[in-house]
Amino acid sequence: MNSIIYGPVPSWRLGRSLGVDLLCAPGKTCSFDCVYCQLGRTTSATTERREFVSMARLTEELKEVRGINADYVTFSGTGEPTIASNLGQAIDLARSILHLPIAVLTNSSLISREDVRGDLAKADVVVAKLDAHSQELLRQVNRPMAGLMLSDIIAGIKLFKSKFTGKLCLQIMFIEANKNFAVEIAQVASCLLPDELQLNTPLRPCPVKPLPPPQMASIKGNFHNFRNVVTVYEAPRPEVKPLNLQETLRRRPKL
Ligand code: SF4
Repeated sequence: MNSIIYGPVPSWRLGRSLGVDLLCAPGKTCSFDCVYCQLGRTTSATTERREFVSMARLTEELKEVRGINADYVTFSGTGEPTIASNLGQAIDLARSILHLPIAVLTNSSLISREDVRGDLAKADVVVAKLDAHSQELLRQVNRPMAGLMLSDIIAGIKLFKSKFTGKLCLQIMFIEANKNFAVEIAQVASCLLPDELQLNTPLRPCPVKPLPPPQMASIKGNFHNFRNVVTVYEAPRPEVKPLNLQETLRRRPKL
């Protein structure tokens, strides 16, 4: 049986990050199939929320890592964490056992749903993906399931931000396919009032080449109106000794 908890792993955004994979199923369970995904192709494409791991099992695993040296507990893992219908409960549980701040990395695909926004609102930090300014670019870069509309995603992020008391980060993954649309993506991002903007390019092994530092620096220039912008090349990565190195490498979490 795969373990739900992995790491801590070094994250350029979250320091020493203890990962929680509420999907914990073979393959990848996601509503997107991003061309740059380091987990390979989506094997279980779904937008249907359901419980994958029980709270009893999560409680056991969380108790095993109580006292661990980590900066964040991060809900991420082998797909899109908001597909797990017990995400909100799991956040409450992790906080009560580990007493650490909680982050969720989401692809934003289900954020137009009230129940998803309610679960995400329990986190201290939400990192929401936004790689496109148009439905066509979303289709090219993120390969969403049929019916997922960028307009709903943008409206959902906006609504979420209007009520969220934690920190909302927007993460934009830049690759060849969307690098020429930085101005347009910045315009959309500016309506969402993120607390932080994270400009990324895929540095871990995946089917798509990362953009080199000069291109990322030039892209960053389009986001000069934001007060807090970080790029993956500028961010320090903390040195950590993973709790379970083999498991961590095998799962290649998308931190
Ligand atoms: S990068 Fe994230 S959102 Fe995209 S396919 Fe992989 S797990 Fe899903």
